[in-house]
Order: sequence, then C-alpha cells, then structure tokens
Amino acid sequence: MKKGFIHTFCGQGNARDSTRLVYAVKIMIYDVTVPITNTMPIWPGDPPVELVPMSHESRNKTHIVNLTAIAMGSHTGTHIDAPFHMIKSGKRLHEFSLEILVGKATVFEVPGVRSIRRADLEGFDWTSVERVLFKTDNSAHWWDGKFYEEFVYLDAGGAEFLVERGVRLVGIDYLSIDKFRSDAHPAHFIFLTKNILILEGLNLSAVPGGQYTLYALPLKLEDADGAPARVILVN
Ligand SMILES: [Zn+2]
Repeated sequence: MKKGFIHTFCGQGNARDSTRLVYAVKIMIYDVTVPITNTMPIWPGDPPVELVPMSHESRNKTHIVNLTAIAMGSHTGTHIDAPFHMIKSGKRLHEFSLEILVGKATVFEVPGVRSIRRADLEGFDWTSVERVLFKTDNSAHWWDGKFYEEFVYLDAGGAEFLVERGVRLVGIDYLSIDKFRSDAHPAHFIFLTKNILILEGLNLSAVPGGQYTLYALPLKLEDADGAPARVILVN
C-alpha cells in the first residue's frame, strides 16, 4: 500500500491590481490495490498467477526488449465482479458505465466481527451513500501472502440492508464478499441480480473510515465476468 501526496497550487490573479492569491490543496491518494505477483494469495482452485519475464534482443542488437507473459484468472487480487460471474444471463462488465466505478464512496470500519450483519450496519449514517467499502480485520491478512480462509464476509441480511439503502457498489477487503466455501453465495446473488457491482480484494489497511472519491478501473476485457482493477481512493 502506497500513500501519495499531490500538492496542487491554484493561482487566482486579478489583472487590474496584480494582487495574487495562491492557495494549496493537499490531495491524499490511497492505493488500495493488492500487488499482482506469482506468490500472491489466490482463491483455491482459481488459475495460478504466472508472470513470466521474457526478453529478446533488438534487431540492431543495441538493447534488450523486456516484456512479460501474463496468465491469471479474471478474479485475481483486487477485482470487480459483474453479474455474469454468477448469473447465466447477467450483464458483463463492459456493459456497465464507468460512472458507477468513479465517484463518492464511503469507507466504514467494521472491526472485530466474523461477518457483517444488518445489526452492524444500522448504526452508520447512510445519507447519500452510493458506494460503500468495508474495512474489516481482513485487511491485516494480506501481508503474509497466504490465503486466509476465515475472512470476514457480508451475510444475507447485511446485503439486503444495503439494497434497501440504494447502494450501487459494495466493496470488501478480501477475495469474496460471501463466506469461504459458501454454496449459495447469497450476497453475490442479492447484489448481482440487481446490477450492484461488487469490488473484492481491497487492501484498506492504511485507509481511515470516511468519505473519498473512488476510482476503480477494471481491465477492459470484452464480455468479462469480472476483471482485475487498479483502485484508488482520493480525499
Ligand atoms: Zn470476484
């Protein structure tokens, strides 16, 4: 996780008396994307990540040209689930407007729970929350590189609550929003049947709860059931 500061200086001039007001706006950028590596945790049974460095000499033999052969599943690391991930005639990722994936987002912290339930959500202020990301104890489990089976998930009651609140995108800080080894995938179905996008595999460990602007930009894979995304939060 990398934090970055951008200092933007905006000048406001007055041509007549040449006074000049200069003020600084500090922007904080949180990169909440998990790095894609050959040793990253992946969902058991998913295709392994294989980044294979390749190179060849330039035609005039003055330099080496490096590239990488990439193999991985579409739900690797930080990624977006489209309805077609679980619904036969569901929408594919390219059918969604980027307008859903860019905009105001709220990070709610839900520490110390095994699952997020309706009762855990009712106490938050949901006024004009369209995109919500949950920071749980999961975020602390990215560091050891192993797949963490006991990850915190959203239960069906919690998912129904978010639908009632009119949320359009839901994010969580591990590789599924449903419980590990769930057969029915209730939260996936509750959201995906309503074209609510799911953002999985976030690392929110450095992000305090609060309001941000989300940029979640998936690879532009045609007809995709999901795709890895670079996700940042800005405030
Ligand atoms: Zn997924």
